[in-house]
Amino acid sequence: MSDVLLEIRDVETFYGSSQALFGMSFAVRQGEFATLIGRNGMGKTTTVKSIMGLLRPRAGRLTFGGRELRAMPAYRVAQLGFGLVPEGRQVFPNLSVRENLIATANNRARTPDPWTLERVYALFPRLRERERNLGANLSGGEQQMLAIGRALMTNPRLLILDEATEGLAPLIRQEIWDCLSRLKAAGQTIIVIDKNIASLLKLADNHHIVEKGRVVWSGSSASLRAQPDLLHKYVGV
Ligand code: ATP
Repeated sequence: MSDVLLEIRDVETFYGSSQALFGMSFAVRQGEFATLIGRNGMGKTTTVKSIMGLLRPRAGRLTFGGRELRAMPAYRVAQLGFGLVPEGRQVFPNLSVRENLIATANNRARTPDPWTLERVYALFPRLRERERNLGANLSGGEQQMLAIGRALMTNPRLLILDEATEGLAPLIRQEIWDCLSRLKAAGQTIIVIDKNIASLLKLADNHHIVEKGRVVWSGSSASLRAQPDLLHKYVGV
């Protein structure tokens, strides 16, 4: 497949002597909305950290736009065009909303229509209202909007959200899903980790079920919807 953007093959990652990924493999195409789903502790966050160079896999291949990631330091991986919205948001608490957004902004890939403060504020009007507030003083939902806005300001080729809506109120969750739907329509490639399977089934093109450090099933929303036993067995819904 020539339009594959990210490819992970047989990746093995350890924490010290404890193995967390046992041959993780999946691929994401340009413009695709993909998910990693599975129970807690199955290796989803470890996969993201392995991709981003935050953990060093002991085996396997990871390529992004044809470039091998495994030997690269994390800052070089990020420069290739990953926008990470990490678990727990991690906005800068002592910077204002505006400062958070411009702190890491860049357009390395020279996108013709780059993300700007105005575009982020149009996507999340709440952030404009809170422009001068410190990151620490935002609600969880506002922090998540800010974390997404901050990732977009780097003009990422791939946007990754780890626990996209965890701990958020239903209305705010919906706002995050609406935002992701609009980004997808605009052609953004996205990987989402979340427990809200119903929303993911509506939005995503493909899903990868993670069980004990590897993908045990990959397929489309239609195919997953047709196999509720899979969700019951591996995701517990
Ligand atoms: P969750 O939704 O709970 O974050 P996950 O699918 O993202 O789950 P990981 O966080 O990737 O799972 O964890 C995979 C495995 O690695 C688990 O067995 C976990 O206990 C282990 N693990 C995660 N972080 C560490 C760490 N810092 N040190 C040692 N083991 C870890």
